[in-house]
Amino acid sequence: MNSQRILVVEDEQEIRELLRYLIARAGYDVATVGDAETALDSLQTELPALVVIDWMLPRMAGIELARRIRHDAYMKNLPLIMLTARGEEVDKLMSFDAGFDDYITKPFSPRELIARIKALLRRAGEIEGNHLTLNGLDLDMAAHRLRLRGEYVHLRPTEFRLLEIFLRHPKRAFQRNQLLDLVWGRTAYVDERLVDVHVMRLRKVLQRYDMESLVETVRGVGYRLNPSFTSA
Ligand code: CA
Repeated sequence: MNSQRILVVEDEQEIRELLRYLIARAGYDVATVGDAETALDSLQTELPALVVIDWMLPRMAGIELARRIRHDAYMKNLPLIMLTARGEEVDKLMSFDAGFDDYITKPFSPRELIARIKALLRRAGEIEGNHLTLNGLDLDMAAHRLRLRGEYVHLRPTEFRLLEIFLRHPKRAFQRNQLLDLVWGRTAYVDERLVDVHVMRLRKVLQRYDMESLVETVRGVGYRLNPSFTSA
C-alpha cells in the first residue's frame, strides 16, 4: 500500500516487460503502455510519481510526449526520465530541452535504472515539495498544507486526503465506496454516508474562496473534480 506509481512508456515489448519487472522488484507500483497517445490517456486519469519514456516511439516520439506533459497545467511537474538507445551529446541536450529531468541509455544496468529513479523521486519531493496545483489552489504534499488564492487554509487530514485523491485523478468520477477504500482503507468498516459528510466539510472550506464547485456531485455515481476547473 502507498507505494509510488511509475508509468513506463516503451513500445518494445521485451524492454517494456523488463522495465516492469525491474521497477516492480524495487517496490514500486508499475503501469506500462506502448505508445505516447495511450500514455497521455493514462495521465489524464491518474498522475504517477514519475514517468519513464522511450525516445523512439511509434507516431508521437518520446520528446514530443515530454513537451506535451510540460505544457499541461496538471502534469507539468511530473519527473521524467528519457530512455534512449542513442548516446550522442545532441540527444542529451534535446532531451533536457524538451523537459526531461534525466536520461538512461540502453542497454542500462538494473542497478543504475533504479538508482536514477530513486534519486529523481527524492529530488522531486525535496525541490518541488510535491505540490498539486490548480487555479489558485496549491496542495503541498510534503508540508501537508493547503493554500487557496495565496492564503494558508486549515484542512483536516481526511479532507486533505480526499482533495489529494481528486487532484491526482482529475478526470475520474469516484463512487463512494471507492473513496472509502482510498481514504479509509479497505479494511475500515464505515458507512458510505461518511464520504458525503467529508465532501461537505471540504466544500465548506472551499466555499470561503468561491471554490465550492471544485468537487462536483455526479448523480448516481459519486464525486469528481469539476472539469471546468481542470480545463481553465
Ligand atoms: Ca522504442
